[in-house]
Amino acid sequence: MNKYQVLVVEDDIMISNLMSATLEMTGYAYRTATNGKEAIMSVLSYKPDIMLLDLGLPDMSGIEIIRKVREWSSMPIIVVSARTDIEDKVEALDAGADDYLTKPFSVDELLARIRVALRRAGSITGERTAEDSVYSNGTLRIDYAAGCVFVEEEEVHLTPMEYKILCLLARNTGKVLSYNYILKEIWGGVNESDMASLRVYVTLLRRKIESTEEHLIQTHVGIGYRMLSHQE
Ligand code: CA
Repeated sequence: MNKYQVLVVEDDIMISNLMSATLEMTGYAYRTATNGKEAIMSVLSYKPDIMLLDLGLPDMSGIEIIRKVREWSSMPIIVVSARTDIEDKVEALDAGADDYLTKPFSVDELLARIRVALRRAGSITGERTAEDSVYSNGTLRIDYAAGCVFVEEEEVHLTPMEYKILCLLARNTGKVLSYNYILKEIWGGVNESDMASLRVYVTLLRRKIESTEEHLIQTHVGIGYRMLSHQE
């Protein structure tokens, strides 16, 4: 069996042990690092499939590690931090983190985030097939080739802007996209008036694609949006 390799970067031994025990029980292979230098060395030598990263490390900040690793690797990085400041989360996401969890976290939540991140990474690096031209998540289906969106097999009519935003979120399912990232991708730059428009578009999109039972676009207040995965 091909076990996924997880790198745990955490200087708090209690938390590191909790994560390691959880990973071990769930069948993941793992390695731990307690500072930034060790983390970078491990990324190079161990070549993990995913990294769980604390932001407050003794020798360098987790943000620096994300920036360094992103110079050559697109492996999923989940920030696990006690910092609750919105600025820290946004900075981590803009630096290239895929997701963040705030301590204290639930072990189930951690495992769910790992599964989603690994699946996302697999679908990006895996071979592209004809199937990739159709996106399916819960009751939502996007036919990229035809540019059509369906909810429970009923076609939904979206404006070009709504469609663009939906595709961006869908292509990054499971990943938190910061407002800045979305604005840059859709409008080509970051400015206040577009931010207001983005909120309106997302509200309209939700009305068209979500039902009371199925929540698809998650808001991270002050941070951004995430397309939830309904493939658990
Ligand atoms: Ca720490």
